[in-house]
Amino acid sequence: MTDDLRPETQAIRAGREHDGSSLAPVLWPSTTYRLDDLERARELNFESRPPDFYGRNGSPTVNDFADAIASLEGAEAALALGSGMGALSTIVFALCSGGDHIVAQSRTFSVTNQLLTLVCPRFGIDVTFVDATDSGAVEAAVEPGRTMLVLVETPANPGLDVIDLEAIGAIAGPFTVVDSTMATPVVQRPLDHGIDLVMHAATKGIAGHNDAMLGVVAGEQELIDVVWRHHLVHGAVASAYDSWNGLRGLRTLHARVHQQSASAAVLADRLADHPAVASVRYPGRDDHPHHAIAARQMSSGGTVVAFDLAGGVEAGARMVRSCELAVNAASFGGPETLITHPASTTAATLTLDEREAMGIGDGTIRLSVGLEHVEDLWDDVDAAISGSD
Ligand SMILES: *Cc1c(COP(=O)(O)O)cnc(C)c1O
Repeated sequence: MTDDLRPETQAIRAGREHDGSSLAPVLWPSTTYRLDDLERARELNFESRPPDFYGRNGSPTVNDFADAIASLEGAEAALALGSGMGALSTIVFALCSGGDHIVAQSRTFSVTNQLLTLVCPRFGIDVTFVDATDSGAVEAAVEPGRTMLVLVETPANPGLDVIDLEAIGAIAGPFTVVDSTMATPVVQRPLDHGIDLVMHAATKGIAGHNDAMLGVVAGEQELIDVVWRHHLVHGAVASAYDSWNGLRGLRTLHARVHQQSASAAVLADRLADHPAVASVRYPGRDDHPHHAIAARQMSSGGTVVAFDLAGGVEAGARMVRSCELAVNAASFGGPETLITHPASTTAATLTLDEREAMGIGDGTIRLSVGLEHVEDLWDDVDAAISGSD
């Protein structure tokens, strides 16, 4: 019914199947449902995502959230999971077995990297890492008959590399999977570019209020069914409560992302002119190395800006300590502006070489732009940088 509506309208209308006449989403916390009819009870064992059987198989609130995601991604089907990593690890182990091969982008979210470097090899799954900004290198790394997955993240966390979705989508053979967390469905829709599965840490921009741990994956029904069946044993099930918050987040997703992207673009431009800033990485700026690709596949530069302070580690640490509005906290996509300095936090244990291989320099700062007034944000960021000279 909602298919021919524009995405902004779909976000308001989607995921209401189990709400009855309630306008607000209904929270269904039950983990089990009365099975009045024995024959139906038997059938439910074999049905995909039944909303009224047992909570691990499906639930009204979780299914409604997933269905809303499917309509925003232009997908046949979607599945909600307990976290972004729950989604990613379920996809990997649903589709790959010992002896299979994955081609993955080398610069990704650090826990994705841990899954691929530490866990996959324990199960005999080989991973080849490539610089996926060179899509020819991705294709060249595919081993016909053995490569099951091509996995990329765009824009990538934290370096903001942008990967060419059309080129990845055109690779024949393996399933192509895109982690689109940083973009949200507002900024890009990977399935429109021939990608097989799009996933998100919906914990971030989609739920959008820093109060729900959620992952989602969307694609063709048949493929989602395979992932769903594995999630029954893997167990990374989404909570009904978090899905309920996810549904609420979706209603304002477009307004939030548009506003946050507009502020991010302003801050990126001003940071680029700041004498203490060595470089800015923002996909919406034409000095971003992959700006042409970003302009083709993204509707805006997104809500996250990365930049390098000329003063290195000391300057980065001082800036984070000096900010009063921007909060030093992990995550991104919520209403509060967050600032992180990976070299003194998440990447502090890595060597400079290892960090630079991940796109993290000594003075790299990641700013997740929130919903505060942009001039208040600039005053805060500018004062903190100046205090960090
Ligand atoms: C946060 C994040 C994840 C993991 O999501 P969780 O909900 O924290 O498990 C995966 N990919 C990207 C790009 C992320 O930013």
